Amino acid sequence: MTTKDDSDEMLGYSILKSRKLIKAILSMSDDIPTSNSSETKRNIVIIGGGIIGVCAAYYLAKALWEKNVDISESGTTITILEANDIASGASGKAGGFLAKDWHSRESASLGRLSFELHTSLAQSLGGKDVYGYRRVSSFGGVVDVEDLSSGVGKQSNLEDQKQDEGINTHIVNVPRATPTRTHPSALDTPIELDLPTWIRAADSFPLVADEETTAQVHPYLFTQVLFKECLKLGVRYAQGHALKWNRDGGLLGIISPDVSANSGMETKKTLSATTLIIAAGPWSGRVANELLEIDIPMTYLPGHSIILQPPTPGQGPAHSVFVEIRQLARSLNNKEAVHENITQTPEIFFRPDGTIYVAGENTGPPLPDGTKEVNDIIDPESIAKLQRSIQLLGVQGEQIQKQLCYRPLTRRRIPIIGKLGKEVYIATGHGPWGISLGPGTGKILSELVLDEPNSLSADIFGLEPRAHGVAVKE
Ligand SMILES: Cc1cc2nc3c(=O)[nH]c(=O)nc-3n(C[C@H](O)[C@H](O)[C@H](O)COP(=O)(O)OP(=O)(O)OC[C@H]3O[C@@H](n4cnc5c(N)ncnc54)[C@H](O)[C@@H]3O)c2cc1C
Repeated sequence: MTTKDDSDEMLGYSILKSRKLIKAILSMSDDIPTSNSSETKRNIVIIGGGIIGVCAAYYLAKALWEKNVDISESGTTITILEANDIASGASGKAGGFLAKDWHSRESASLGRLSFELHTSLAQSLGGKDVYGYRRVSSFGGVVDVEDLSSGVGKQSNLEDQKQDEGINTHIVNVPRATPTRTHPSALDTPIELDLPTWIRAADSFPLVADEETTAQVHPYLFTQVLFKECLKLGVRYAQGHALKWNRDGGLLGIISPDVSANSGMETKKTLSATTLIIAAGPWSGRVANELLEIDIPMTYLPGHSIILQPPTPGQGPAHSVFVEIRQLARSLNNKEAVHENITQTPEIFFRPDGTIYVAGENTGPPLPDGTKEVNDIIDPESIAKLQRSIQLLGVQGEQIQKQLCYRPLTRRRIPIIGKLGKEVYIATGHGPWGISLGPGTGKILSELVLDEPNSLSADIFGLEPRAHGVAVKE
């Protein structure tokens, strides 16, 4: 491997340098902001170009514009440093389900803030058209494998099960918490589900949340659209892998493909960084350890998913459906355990582009070194399990995509957001909720980095590094 040192100027970054150009793009009529003397010049580097990193860059840049701070080479810089591509990890492969109030006690306030921000972003960025934002109704129910395989398509709700003799399995009429997601209880009034007839099993699932509190986006498109907004606001983009940080000199060592030489060889370069934000998803623990020698109690949860193109074109219904497929005692007496060969808790998201996203197979190989390697390790059996479960449910469609991604998890299973030390911040561990909680997390980070800890837009007390047992190094 060839290495050479280089300066910022030589990096192949997509940098929007010209303030005039930014002004033109934003169609602003007022004067271009000049440096505000109360804001010292900072070079803020966000490690990770997933939804969390991109949301942080967006809200930081917006806040600086509002404060009239110069975001440019000669002023404050904000750079997203991404090892592969924007939204190449879980942020590009998630379901995109958003919920206002399905969150833990510690992240409840962040959940409400994020839901509001998603709503206002969709209004200002045309989210309905450009990234498939829409409010959805959400349904959940338990279905019996035997009913499904016999084609009856009967829903096993509580009343049905009470009447079934010989069933002593404990079953409720709304799904239990899946390994990754907690549902609220069913709303009082079950409503008929406006699903295509080919979903035989889900014709009268209880409503667990309505359009007031649940929504969806296409997560890859959302992150890409917001990233483009960041560039318009003057945020810079660097492709490379964070290696080490020199606190004194404020330099971040990176390795990136040597684009200029077109040799595929890697080149060591440096990037000015007075302030770091670690938002590297499931790799955040490694980054914190390598750069700062701080231990973050982190793990990850893999998830396979598939995308289907149904035979009938048109918009999918605005519904999210959470199914729990069980094989009741009656079935097990006579038959092989079918439920072991299927995904038992498929999550089905109909998208406005007519495709159907299905996840819920939360197994997979250990976390690879980066997002580039993920496609090579997709497990065919996990994909087959997803396929078998939706076939059983009667969902038709040609599989057009198979995916694997990794949720970042902390040991406490709630996000870690806050200051790790002087000029160092972290935001990760969003588990199954990073798309939902992304905007609020970005806004809070911008408030923390711009030193507004007393007027945070959400209560994150229980999410701060100290609450996770991480010692903050001042
Ligand atoms: C199957 C599945 C379905 C999901 N569905 C939903 C859903 O419906 N709703 C919801 O709210 N959430 C959902 N999630 C969770 C959500 O996808 C994640 O919580 C979220 O994407 C995490 O975002 P992130 O930015 O923290 O991490 P990531 O998206 O993983 O981004 C981290 C980035 O950091 C980069 N990086 C890593 N190391 C370095 C380094 N050293 N230097 C530079 N860059 C680096 C990586 O290349 C990557 O691009 C789902 C997750 C899975 C797996």
